[in-house]
Amino acid sequence: MTPHPQTWLQTTPQGLYCLPGDFHIDPTRPVARAVITHGHADHARPGHDHVLATPETLAIMRTRMGAERAGVAQQALPYHETLRVNDVTITLIPAGHVLGAAQILMEYQGARAVVSGDYKRQADPTCAPFEPVACDVFVTEATFGLPVFRHPDARDEIRRLLASVALFPERTHVVGAYALGKCQRVIAVLRQCGYDAPIYLHGAHQAVCETYQALGVELGDLRPATVAAKAELKGAIVLAPPSAIADRWARRLEDPVVCMASGWMRIRQRAKAGGVELPLIISDHADWDDLLRTIRETGAGEIWVTHGAEEALIHAAGLMQIKARALALIGYGEEE
Ligand SMILES: [Zn+2]
Ligand SMILES: [Zn+2]
Repeated sequence: MTPHPQTWLQTTPQGLYCLPGDFHIDPTRPVARAVITHGHADHARPGHDHVLATPETLAIMRTRMGAERAGVAQQALPYHETLRVNDVTITLIPAGHVLGAAQILMEYQGARAVVSGDYKRQADPTCAPFEPVACDVFVTEATFGLPVFRHPDARDEIRRLLASVALFPERTHVVGAYALGKCQRVIAVLRQCGYDAPIYLHGAHQAVCETYQALGVELGDLRPATVAAKAELKGAIVLAPPSAIADRWARRLEDPVVCMASGWMRIRQRAKAGGVELPLIISDHADWDDLLRTIRETGAGEIWVTHGAEEALIHAAGLMQIKARALALIGYGEEE
């Protein structure tokens, strides 16, 4: 009889722990052996002894936290290659979330569990697309696990941004976006939509963009926004962290149009409260329909929900005759 994953995959104060492999997944505190799904700060934390992740995630970790804090020993495992760790076989599968993001497939004595990390199903020119993997237990996020969350096509949202740029050629469009993933995706989709002017970056966005470019993601002509003359930014698009778009930094720009690229922009009050004039619904997480579709496609008889809006998803899984439970892991949430 194959051992049910609940006997060998456990929740601990540090996060999920694989007993026969003796490693933690996305641990929230320093551990001896960590397997990391992707580079966002709530999943990739500094100070582990040994870190296993895709080569891209390791590069992103070194960029964001410095090589010395990104793990005493780093081991790269490219997508689809298998690795035996003690009694468990690990395979990293694209999660479609950000560059390098992986689902972690663990096989132990014939039982299969997949930890998704964060994931999305929408097209993203900056990373490999999500691949559903057959498993017994699928461990899923639920950031947007409510029926109200339905993400439109990102290209349509970017076309709205470009229409606004054409309408207000004297103003600077400042777009709030997370430094890892969202920023590069917004740039890449702008390029897909034919925008080939220089794009200006807040200082906080430069390092990760350079890492993406070094890893082969085309982003076109990027320039620092901090040193650029205010006049040069007239009619330009500037990307900045969400925390910067409503503060003095953004007000120094030429009559700024404050935009924000986030799945949360579906909630109008949230855009209003943040002083966002042009909300762009662009998310790197699965929306409600894609969460349900993905659960179905894995064929898992059971799902565990790590973080987000668990209750609605657990209820919906029940209606699909799939066992579901909340792991109630703490320490995960919005990216930065
Ligand atoms: Zn993430
Ligand atoms: Zn996350």
